[in-house]
Amino acid sequence: MNKILSIVIIFTALVMSSGCNEQETSGSGTVSADAGKTYKWKLVTTWPANFPVFQEGVERFAKDVKTMSNGRLNIKVYAGGQLVPPLGVFDAVTQGSVEMGHGAAYYWAGKVPAAQFMTTVPFGMTASGVNAWLYAGDGIKLWDEIYKPYKLKAFPMGNTGVQMGGWFNKKIESIADLKGLKMRIPGLGGKVLAKAGGNPVLMAGGEIYTALERNTIDATEWVGPYHDLRLGLERAAKYYYYPGWHEPGPALELLINQAAWNSLSPDLQKTIEVAAAANNVWMHAEFDVKNQQALQELREKHSNIEILEFPAEVLAEFKRLTKEVLQEEAAKDPVFKKVYDNYETFSKQNSQWDAISEGAYRRAAMK
Ligand code: CA
Repeated sequence: MNKILSIVIIFTALVMSSGCNEQETSGSGTVSADAGKTYKWKLVTTWPANFPVFQEGVERFAKDVKTMSNGRLNIKVYAGGQLVPPLGVFDAVTQGSVEMGHGAAYYWAGKVPAAQFMTTVPFGMTASGVNAWLYAGDGIKLWDEIYKPYKLKAFPMGNTGVQMGGWFNKKIESIADLKGLKMRIPGLGGKVLAKAGGNPVLMAGGEIYTALERNTIDATEWVGPYHDLRLGLERAAKYYYYPGWHEPGPALELLINQAAWNSLSPDLQKTIEVAAAANNVWMHAEFDVKNQQALQELREKHSNIEILEFPAEVLAEFKRLTKEVLQEEAAKDPVFKKVYDNYETFSKQNSQWDAISEGAYRRAAMK
C-alpha cells in the first residue's frame, strides 16, 4: 500500500510541477511561445548615412538587439533617404511599411505639437532632468498617449546634451543686434527669435554652410562643437555663442509600430527597451566626449574664432519670450497644454533639487 501511495504521490507531484512550469512559462514570458521564431525588421532614420553618434548609435542598438536576442530579432538600419525621405520616418512607421524609426520627436511638431516636449523646449530641462521626467516621471507615459492615435510606441534613445547657441557673423551685445537677423533655427527656438525681432529660417543640415558663407543667412545653430566642426562652420562665421538656450538637452527617439511591437513576445520587447536605454546612455556619453575634444580643437587650431557667452540681458529676454511662446501654443492645443503643465511642474521641482545638489556642488567644486 505504502509503495503504491508513494508512486501516486510522486506521479501527482510530477503532473503538478509540470503544470506549474507551464503556467510560469506563459505567465512570466521568460521562455516565450515563439522562442524559435526569428524576425527581420526594418528601421529607418532621419539621419544621413554614417552620421557620427546619431546614426552610429542606431547601428549599435541594432547590433545589441541581435546579440541579446540570440539572433531572433534582426533589425536592418536604413539612413535617411535610403528607403524613405528623412522626414517620412514618422509616416512610414505609423503605416507599418517599416517596423521602426529613429529621429527627434520635435520633427513631428506639425502633426503632434506636444511631441516637442519629448525632445527639448527652450529653457527646458537638461539631459539628466529630461531622463528623470521620461523614465521616472510621466514622460514616457505621456509620449505613448500622444502617439496612440498614430499607432506608435516610443522610447528615448540618445541625447545630445546642451547644444551650442550657434554661429553669428556679428557680435550679439544686446537685443537690438537681433533685429532683422536671419538665422537658421528650427521649432520653438525660431518662434522666440522671431518675437525678439529676428527672422528664423528653416534649412536642412546640408545647406547650412553655403548659406552662412554666402551671407544668405547671418547666423545658424546646428548641434555642438563636434558636429559643427564637421560642417566647417568655423570657416563661415567668426562668433560662436553659448549656451544653446533653445536646445538644452534634446532627447532622440526610437519609434516602433504598435502592431509590430504587440506581435513580439515579452522577452523581445524587454530586449528592445533595455537596448534603447543602453544606447540612450551611450549616445549622450559619446556626444560629451566628442564635444570636449572638438572644443579643444577649436580653441587650439582656430584662434580666429571667438567663443562667447550670450549677454545676460539677451538670455533673459529669450527666456521671457519663451514663456510667451509656450503659453500661446498651450492656448491653441489642449494636448500641448496637458504635456506642458506636467513638464513644467516636474521641471520646477527638479530645478529646486538641482539647485542644492548638482548646482551647489558645481559651484563648490569650481572654487
Ligand atoms: Ca540644434
